[in-house]
Amino acid sequence: MSNQKGQPKNPKYRTGKPCRKCGSTKKIVIKRKNPSSGETYTTNRCIPCSRKQVLKNNNKKRKEGYFLKYQQNNREHLREYQQGYYTPDKHRVRNGMNKKRMRQATLNTSENRRKVKEFYANRPDGMEVDHIYPLKGKTCSGLHVWWNLQYLPPSDNRSKSNKVSEQYQPTRTLS
Ligand SMILES: [Zn+2]
Repeated sequence: MSNQKGQPKNPKYRTGKPCRKCGSTKKIVIKRKNPSSGETYTTNRCIPCSRKQVLKNNNKKRKEGYFLKYQQNNREHLREYQQGYYTPDKHRVRNGMNKKRMRQATLNTSENRRKVKEFYANRPDGMEVDHIYPLKGKTCSGLHVWWNLQYLPPSDNRSKSNKVSEQYQPTRTLS
């Protein structure tokens, strides 16, 4: 691993100092640079011993429920992370996910395709097509099928978002 100047990020030295843990002078001790002050300092443990220490600390944290607590407190962030919000091509990832969701929710019969197309084509001016049971609801997932579509004015569509509520029950009758 090296940075732009071609310098190794964490130069490794045999400092000759004994490791604080195992006392060996033959093992490599890492010399680190303090990023703010620029000072170099040597860790007082050899590499194998510091790895063991990290594992030990992680085990201790696990026992104390540190990671579980972190997961609970950062659920939203972790979910976004998994959904690819923080990858460089996040838009591509998210578009792909929406397409996949739509494909999974589509009933692939010619009748449904025709009726959905018709429903979109007959949309009155100033109205938006909405899924009565949203494709990505909190408690349920609706289908991209003609009987799950309704017309809503844009303002209602915004406030409805991905909720299902009595107020937004379909106004048209099923035929
Ligand atoms: Zn050691």
